[in-house]
Amino acid sequence: MIILVINCGSSSIKYQLLDMKNDEVYDLMAKGLVEKIGLPDGCLTHKPTGKDPFSMTLPIPDHKVGMKLVLDALVDPEHGVLSSFDDIEAVGHRIVQGADFFSGSTLVDEDVLAKIRICCDFAPLHNPAHLLGIEAMSHVLPEVPQVVTFDTAFHQTMEPYAYMYALPYEYYEKYRVRRYGAHGTSHQYVSQRGAKLAGLDLGNSKIITCHLGNGSSVTAIKDGKVVDTSMGFTPLEGMIMGTRCGNIDANILPYIMKKENLTPDEMTTIMNKKSGFLGLSGRSSDMRDLDAAAREGDVRSKIALKKLTYDTIKNVGAYIAEMNGVDLIVFTAGIGENNPRLRRHLAFMGVKIDVEVNERARSSETIISAPDSAVKVALIPTNEELVIARDTMHIISELDN
Ligand code: ADP
Repeated sequence: MIILVINCGSSSIKYQLLDMKNDEVYDLMAKGLVEKIGLPDGCLTHKPTGKDPFSMTLPIPDHKVGMKLVLDALVDPEHGVLSSFDDIEAVGHRIVQGADFFSGSTLVDEDVLAKIRICCDFAPLHNPAHLLGIEAMSHVLPEVPQVVTFDTAFHQTMEPYAYMYALPYEYYEKYRVRRYGAHGTSHQYVSQRGAKLAGLDLGNSKIITCHLGNGSSVTAIKDGKVVDTSMGFTPLEGMIMGTRCGNIDANILPYIMKKENLTPDEMTTIMNKKSGFLGLSGRSSDMRDLDAAAREGDVRSKIALKKLTYDTIKNVGAYIAEMNGVDLIVFTAGIGENNPRLRRHLAFMGVKIDVEVNERARSSETIISAPDSAVKVALIPTNEELVIARDTMHIISELDN
């Protein structure tokens, strides 16, 4: 089944075209990116498998035009991989926030769209863009069924004591204020692949997954179900990130807002876009830049880097206690897959890293713990698009039956 997977941002469309034979066997036919939608120098980068990549710069006024460009690239006689749009059997979309409406992927209909719209309040940068993507797709391929996969769905198994904040209960009832988590699709994928690689029975296992990228979160998964995760009502909660502050004492907000005369929106921007690695180091949100600065002796970059390691270990330690043990710890995403130094720090409670294997391991499935480690540690490159394509295939196959 040929499935187009779409990840729509406010000014971008990431896509992958996958030919799914079954859950495990698939061909990546093409992938690409539309950037700078709404700007005069919009850009499409298209990478067809087995053919030369291709890019073009042109004004892309909106998502409908962007989506049409993607489809045209897929059937282009020179750079395309399909003979006609009719070859696309379904479209799967990544949706950042589904709140407690969705505990799994689902076919798009009016009711689903209405609920995604309600969730825009909790993900104002992401959900409106996803809706634009779905709308643009219905416009250019009206006959093709669309499925949505939610980053929050995997975390819906958390118990109320893990997802409730100790605020007046009415805010939960009136405004749905609770912890939803994020990166769920990634945590789900790497826990399943990790269990396979480590020879564990997922249904009888204790796994901690560390998704460390621009955004970072750690999740505790018992018997294949999430029991806790570090992100909360929004992806701001938890650990230090590229530009996000993670956990802070909530009283800091009114204190700084009064001192600096800031509006709620300005404070929100500071916590989400100007904090984290960037805010603490004053240099960059990218770990590679901080690593370089730290090597030259920059003290603030060193603190920021150490804080990520510290926050990771703190979460892992808490989740080991919460699950009363752990069989497997998995690292994924830009930092998790490429930074052996951080992974090396995991050396407690019988966890023993194989220093040489860890040093070499980069973005490929690898067990990095020593053979005599009490707990297995693995590196698993994440693949959220594959989860979306699989879910889409299952939902569409059921429709056909
Ligand atoms: P996003 O959350 O935007 O998907 P990524 O998962 O790509 O982000 O992670 C970005 C982070 O990963 C950056 O801090 C970057 O420094 C780090 N990173 C990405 N690739 C590498 C690499 N090859 N070596 C070291 N660090 C990397």
